[in-house]
Amino acid sequence: MPNHTSILKDKTILIAGAGLAGSLLACYFAPLGCRVLVLERRGDPRAKGFVGGRSINLALSARGIDGLEGVGLADRVLAGAIPMRKRVMHSTSGELTDQPYSANPEDAINSVSRSGLNLTLLEAADEHPGVEIRFNQRVLECDFDAPSVTTLDEASGQQSVERADLVIGADGAFSAIRMAMQVSGRFNFSQDYLEHGYKELMIPPAADCGVDPDLHDGFALEPNALHIWPRGGSMMIALPNLDKTFTCTLFWPYQGEHAFDAVSESKKDIRAFFERHYPDAVPLMPTLADDYLANPIGSLVTVRCWPWQRGGKVALVGDAAHAIVPFYGQGMNAAFEDCRVLHRCIVEQDGDIPAALDEYQRLRKPEAEAIADMALENFVEMRDKVGRPEFLYRKKIEQTLHKAFPGKVEPQYNLVSFSTVPYTRAQQRGRDLAGVIETIAEQLPANGNSDEPGWSEAVRRLGKDLLDA
Ligand SMILES: Cc1cc2nc3c(=O)[nH]c(=O)nc-3n(C[C@H](O)[C@H](O)[C@H](O)COP(=O)(O)OP(=O)(O)OC[C@H]3O[C@@H](n4cnc5c(N)ncnc54)[C@H](O)[C@@H]3O)c2cc1C
Repeated sequence: MPNHTSILKDKTILIAGAGLAGSLLACYFAPLGCRVLVLERRGDPRAKGFVGGRSINLALSARGIDGLEGVGLADRVLAGAIPMRKRVMHSTSGELTDQPYSANPEDAINSVSRSGLNLTLLEAADEHPGVEIRFNQRVLECDFDAPSVTTLDEASGQQSVERADLVIGADGAFSAIRMAMQVSGRFNFSQDYLEHGYKELMIPPAADCGVDPDLHDGFALEPNALHIWPRGGSMMIALPNLDKTFTCTLFWPYQGEHAFDAVSESKKDIRAFFERHYPDAVPLMPTLADDYLANPIGSLVTVRCWPWQRGGKVALVGDAAHAIVPFYGQGMNAAFEDCRVLHRCIVEQDGDIPAALDEYQRLRKPEAEAIADMALENFVEMRDKVGRPEFLYRKKIEQTLHKAFPGKVEPQYNLVSFSTVPYTRAQQRGRDLAGVIETIAEQLPANGNSDEPGWSEAVRRLGKDLLDA
């Protein structure tokens, strides 16, 4: 990183929340010569391990890697990641269908442990002499004029006030800093809950569920893949962990036939429900019923708000500014991109914080809107479309065009996950490409068979005409 060691000299930056965005942002700010004070509601995970919190693992992709790279942490994090190069769909009859993410075999999304990543970021932040992280400090309120925050020490019950030159709300989807903005007036806010919630389950290593450990290097399923059990309005996914387990996540509606309220609390019923809908997974889940009963149901929310800053002194990043549903695997990636962009704005504005915050929100808001919409659309794709022949057929057309016209044809998924092209551009190019694919599918013989000789050539020819038009 170029040296800008004094542009925030003598300033105090207060970050509410030492989650993924807050701890990375501390690493970005510290080298600018300021004091960084991070206040985190939870206890120090180095002392107690992570308590509470959300998903066990996350998909880290290009934007997140870029955000980590900006402070020299990408290699450290990727060393503990498992690349996933394709989706593997599990049908109800146990049939598996592979769907590579990209024609380029190097492209992968990476399964990382949330707690491991948060720990790495906290430790990296703590290595900077100008950074102080205080745990068990719940931010209650924010005074935008000072600016300052009121905090509650969860251990002693004492309240105190901390002043700063800049306050950043990195305190997640239910941000206290954002809440203060909401009640201060002239602030747009919406939150939309999905009718679906999520619950996590576990597949142990192969040896613990009767699978030959030699089959998948000790894993019960192929490890370099994101596994999906698409079931129309509901789905289950599984991501690999370094300890050879998989974390499964159910995304089910709260109510309905294939829903949380359709399963009673009897262990027998739970197993019977899974035998019916996920039969190939049941033998891999010896603790299924216990996990199902023990683990909570989390809600899924999209938060949109504006503005993201107040008076050039207080700003929001990550989920505090734009919580999105997890179906594109981009919430953290977008949060890391926020950190990099905010840092760049401060450097480019030579430490003029109000100008930097204005520029930051101007640049990031449209991007956050685009990924929020794409994440909602991708839920329908994952839970429903990926299991349908007509969708898989269109994916084949997409991959054929991608191979034939590299650089010119990049699927939306690739632009979002394997590039740092702005989300808005990825969204537009995705829409344009969808139109081209639909036209090709219509012009090919009905129910075209992609294995027939001449099929790929016909796709390339039609594609060339449409792309040149
Ligand atoms: C099921 C699920 C799966 C997901 N999968 C992916 C994925 O594969 N890829 C991806 O990129 N994203 C994924 N996400 C999204 C990702 O988890 C979030 O976008 C990311 O955690 C945002 O980081 P953040 O730092 O903004 O918020 P958080 O990680 O939520 O951190 C907020 C921090 O602030 C603290 N805090 C909260 N309130 C206060 C307060 N009042 N005072 C002090 N501290 C406070 C919290 O304790 C926490 O440490 C997923 C989310 C879910 C729910």
